Amino acid sequence: MNDALKATLAPTLKSWIESANDPRSDFPIQNLPFGVFSDAVNERPRAGVAIGDWIVDLAALKDARLIDAHGTFSEPRLNAFIALGRESWRAVRVALSALLARDTPTLRDDAALRRRALVPRETATMHLPVEIPGYADFYSSKEHATNVGSMFRDPKNALLPNWSEMPIAYNGRASSVVVSGTPVRRPNGQLKLPDEPRPIFGACRKLDIELETGFIVGQGNALGEPIPCEEAEAHIFGMVLLNDWSARDIQQWEYVPLGPFNSKTFATTISPWIVTLDALEPFRTATPAQEPEPLAYLRHAGDHAFDIELSVDLRPEGAATATTISRTNFKLMYWSMAQQLAHHTVSGCNTRVGDLLGSGTISGPTPDSCGSLLEATWNGQRPVRLEEGGERAFLQDGDEITLRGWCQGEGYRVGFGECVGRILPARSLT
Ligand code: CA
Repeated sequence: MNDALKATLAPTLKSWIESANDPRSDFPIQNLPFGVFSDAVNERPRAGVAIGDWIVDLAALKDARLIDAHGTFSEPRLNAFIALGRESWRAVRVALSALLARDTPTLRDDAALRRRALVPRETATMHLPVEIPGYADFYSSKEHATNVGSMFRDPKNALLPNWSEMPIAYNGRASSVVVSGTPVRRPNGQLKLPDEPRPIFGACRKLDIELETGFIVGQGNALGEPIPCEEAEAHIFGMVLLNDWSARDIQQWEYVPLGPFNSKTFATTISPWIVTLDALEPFRTATPAQEPEPLAYLRHAGDHAFDIELSVDLRPEGAATATTISRTNFKLMYWSMAQQLAHHTVSGCNTRVGDLLGSGTISGPTPDSCGSLLEATWNGQRPVRLEEGGERAFLQDGDEITLRGWCQGEGYRVGFGECVGRILPARSLT
C-alpha cells in the first residue's frame, strides 16, 4: 500500500460534507464504498460512492474531468470498472478522498458542479451493483457448523472430519441474488412431515435467515490456473452484507446427498454498497488459531480476518420497533476469504469479475450471537421474544429483516449500510 493510499485511511481525515463526519455515519471519508444508483432527476443507473448522507455521482465527476475510468461509470453495473484492475480502483479512491477532504475547494466551492455531482442518498434508488456470473456459499464459522452438526447429527462429533481441513462450500444460484429492499417471497416446495411416508407440496413453514458477508471477485483467474492463497486478497474487490434466506423444512428433506437446492435458490439479498478491502485495511486482525495446520495450499502468513461488528434486526409487519435478534463479529470466522478463494480455484476452477463468494452463516458462541433462527431457537424449540410482544421460531409473512455491519474506528466507523428484505406470502397453490 503506497503513501497516497495510506493517507486515505487516516482516522483524523474529515470531509467538507458534514454528515460524513458524524461518528455514527456508516460512510465517512475513510470508507468510500462503490454502488450503483439512480434517482428521479436521472433514472439511468450509474456508479456512485456513498459519503455521509450523499452519493457522489462518479459519471458526473468524470464528465467534469475530475476522475477517469474510461467511461465505465455510466454503465448500469460496476463490472467494467472493476475489470480495469486494482490500480484503477485505488486511483479513484485516492482522487475522491482528496476531492472530498475538508480543505479541497474544487467541488466544495463550485455550487453548479455540486448540484450535478451530489445526490441525497434518501432520494436514490439502489441497484444490484455487479452482474454476478457465479455464486458460491461457504460454511466457515466453526460455531455455526458445530451448532448445526449438534442439532442434526451428534453433539459429540458435531464437526465432520473434512470441516477443519478445508473451507466447505457449495455452488449457489447467482440469478436470484437481489439488492437490499427487494421483497422475498416465501417459497413452496416439498415438505416431509414426521410420521408421513411421503412428502407434501406446500408453503415453507420454517423460513429462516442466514447472517453472512460476501466478497466480490475483482480479478478472476484463467481456467486451470489456481489463485495462490498468499495472492488471493489482491483478487478481491470488496465486501457486502449477505442474507442467505433458507427454507429449513425444504432443506432438511432435499439436502441428502448433494446439498441444498430449492431451499436456498429462491433469493439471496446483498447490501448495495461494496466496501473495498482497502477501506477495511485498518480493521485487519488475526483469524482464530487453525488446528490442525492447513495443507500448504491453504496457508498464508499475517492477519487475514477483519473486525466487522454485525447485527440482525427483525421487525414484524406494522411494528414500530425492531428487535435485535443477533449480534456477532466477522472476525470469528475460522476460514479466511483468502483461503476460501484459494480453495475455490485450487482444482483449476476459473472465477470471473463480479463473482460472489458468501462467508457462510456467521455465529458466535452464545444464543444471542447466532446468525440464523435455526440456531437461536434451536430448530424452533425455544422461540426468541420480540420487543413489542410475541415471539418467533421462524419468519412470518410481513417480517422485515435488517442486517447491519460496521468496523468501529476511533471517532468514526466504516459501515456497510443495511441489507433489508421483507417476507411476502407464498404464491397460492390453487
Ligand atoms: Ca449460507
